[in-house]
Amino acid sequence: MSKLFILLLLAINLQTAQAQEPGGTVTTGRSAVELSIIKTSDVTTLEAFTYSGGDYTKAVKLQHVAVLVRHPKGSLLFDTGLGRNIDAQFKEDMPLWARPFFSYGPVTAARPQLDAAGYAPIERVFLSHGHWDHASALVDFPEAQIWLSQPEKDYLALAGPPAVFPSQLSAPSIKWKPFKFNDTPYGPFAQSLDVFEDGSVVFAPLAGHSPGSIVMYVTLGSGKKFLFVGDAVWKAEAIAKQRPKMWISSRIVDNDKALSLQAVGALTTIQASEPTLVIVPAHDAAIHDALGAYFPQFLK
Ligand SMILES: [Zn+2]
Repeated sequence: MSKLFILLLLAINLQTAQAQEPGGTVTTGRSAVELSIIKTSDVTTLEAFTYSGGDYTKAVKLQHVAVLVRHPKGSLLFDTGLGRNIDAQFKEDMPLWARPFFSYGPVTAARPQLDAAGYAPIERVFLSHGHWDHASALVDFPEAQIWLSQPEKDYLALAGPPAVFPSQLSAPSIKWKPFKFNDTPYGPFAQSLDVFEDGSVVFAPLAGHSPGSIVMYVTLGSGKKFLFVGDAVWKAEAIAKQRPKMWISSRIVDNDKALSLQAVGALTTIQASEPTLVIVPAHDAAIHDALGAYFPQFLK
């Protein structure tokens, strides 16, 4: 774990998998969906830097993770965590003035973890958004299609450091797959993308932190339901208390401050209407720890 530091971290449509069980009953692919958190790095900061009104005396751990979703029709990653080339990327693209604010601890990238476990190459990576601490390992997955919302792709063409690193996005080997959402409502969202067409993994747009930020709902075979919200908030407490990021953090990393606050309000409403839904901010180590499913362990 790294030292205490000021931290301003910044469809393919598939048929529903069906299997005939010995007893003759039909089960859907959804019944076998599992997820795992691939931890790639962490950093300790003060709660106050993670949301407005947070405690200046309370140390909290933030993590950089990739979320692995295993479905009978294929595996996908949501974000990539810090990749094998993060040190070189950071050196090339993070401005000197910003380096003290964006530290990270020792890195164990997702690709070597998956390779060591004998995992087949990942077919699809979805980006919650394109910031450097989420897109770092795109070059580690040259076999994968990189799915991101069209507005995020447009944003990445214009954005730069400290939020977006050209060194991570310029490789010709990256197979970009910008997508548009369908006008199919899901929960409170007017648009969605149900990748496996069985309701198990559903994406929806939640702009604010970046113009094309997206969230991912995952419903496991057990019925447990999760909502991965990227950087809409950094700590779950921000949702319960309906707070934005600390003002200076928000100013640096939130593309649209008013929309970002609206997004937090939307999450507060979602949680109130569905209390058993587990909302997972991309960097909130306390929530990751509570899930109890760090790769190669899986939640079922
Ligand atoms: Zn971000």
